Amino acid sequence: MNNDSYSEEKMRVSFDLDEVLFVSPDTHKTEPALRFPFNKIYKERLRLGTPDLVNELQRLGYEVWVYTSSFRTERYIKNLFKHYKVHFDGIVNAQRHLKEVQGNNKTILPQKLPSRYRISLHIDDETVVCSLGPQYGYKTYQLDAEDDEWKEKIIKEAEHIKNLPR
Ligand SMILES: [Mg+2]
Repeated sequence: MNNDSYSEEKMRVSFDLDEVLFVSPDTHKTEPALRFPFNKIYKERLRLGTPDLVNELQRLGYEVWVYTSSFRTERYIKNLFKHYKVHFDGIVNAQRHLKEVQGNNKTILPQKLPSRYRISLHIDDETVVCSLGPQYGYKTYQLDAEDDEWKEKIIKEAEHIKNLPR
């Protein structure tokens, strides 16, 4: 691969689902529930600002992925977010991770390995996922509690990483 095609590759940012994009309205500000009957099929509630942030990151030239340890199917995740006008560039769920990352490895690999998918920044609520970053070569942003400035902070972090010297 020459330098030109390398520089044209978009930087990838990925999000965990549970407790990051999917949150409880009891503890977090959320996007409105879907209207009937979709609210019966898709019960998860999105953290307020999720569609704005994903669309803004894509507008800024990033690829946005989902990296979840849950077994929700790709189709379920795609269709849920379609109702909020969000289209991810890639989705890694537990099935895909087990097949493509864990595979037949004798050693148990971490539950997520964003570097395996050339993801430069992964957003997750779990300390264990974030703390393994340096060892396995990926960068993280830890997000858990309600934070009215989460969108700005994540964009800032993504821009910071994009501008790091390679
Ligand atoms: Mg989580």
